[in-house]
Amino acid sequence: MTKRFALLLLLFFSICPALHADDDTLRKAWCYIEAYPDFFIGYEDGCLVTTDGRRIPFDDGNRSKGYTRMIEDHCVGDDAFDPEDALHWDYPAGSKIPALGKPPVGDPGRIRPPEIFTYMYGATKSDRRKKMRPVHWAGSTVSHESSMLMTTVNGVDKALEAVSREIENLSAAKKEDLEGILFHVDAYSGYYDRPVRDYPQRTSAHAYGIAVDVNWDDSYFIGSHRGEPYRYRNNMPQFLVDIFERHGFIWGGRWRNYDIMHFEYRPELLVYHPR
Ligand SMILES: [Zn+2]
Repeated sequence: MTKRFALLLLLFFSICPALHADDDTLRKAWCYIEAYPDFFIGYEDGCLVTTDGRRIPFDDGNRSKGYTRMIEDHCVGDDAFDPEDALHWDYPAGSKIPALGKPPVGDPGRIRPPEIFTYMYGATKSDRRKKMRPVHWAGSTVSHESSMLMTTVNGVDKALEAVSREIENLSAAKKEDLEGILFHVDAYSGYYDRPVRDYPQRTSAHAYGIAVDVNWDDSYFIGSHRGEPYRYRNNMPQFLVDIFERHGFIWGGRWRNYDIMHFEYRPELLVYHPR
């Protein structure tokens, strides 16, 4: 029912030039409707329409922000970005992972839509915390195997369980490749209500319970190399990235401002790349 309504709205806008929301905006709005059917049923008058009747403004119309500069500016906060901005870069799901000499050109997914995420996952720490549950994680630390907290909203908890099952079913050779990356690491984390590292005015995806750091200490993160000439670094195998992407997670290694240990549930960036 919800999908049918969304499709009808898209059809309506596409054949009604008088209302003229441009095609790119409609394409991006559809990504949210398709990715989050529990929350969005359509797009109307420049707003995403929610299942409980709210209207979330989609695009503030400012296309001259200079996204790369803004995303790297430590003083820019959540409130600078709208849902349309968060889809500024297309996410190249399923493609060959970047190489040391051929780094990513943009940061697809590193901008988050705060109004949408606080609506879906909770506006306060206590709202968000109530929605978490422990999820079995296939990775392990040096001393133990355990679980991590993830939100139950949008089935993110179940998506991570599906990732864990695929990892556990890998061949012994592939599991060997994950030693020190995902198995027997110093630490990993899921839910953690905090700002983005080095960006105190931006809410981390971990605060919503939608992100996983598979190896907290021993990984590559652009912030660790600030002040040095730019160099892309990566130790994540393609097959692990593929597994996460199949279940709705994007990877921080596809960002120019890379965060190799980081995976984040962002199906709105994946709906155009069915596997
Ligand atoms: Zn992370």
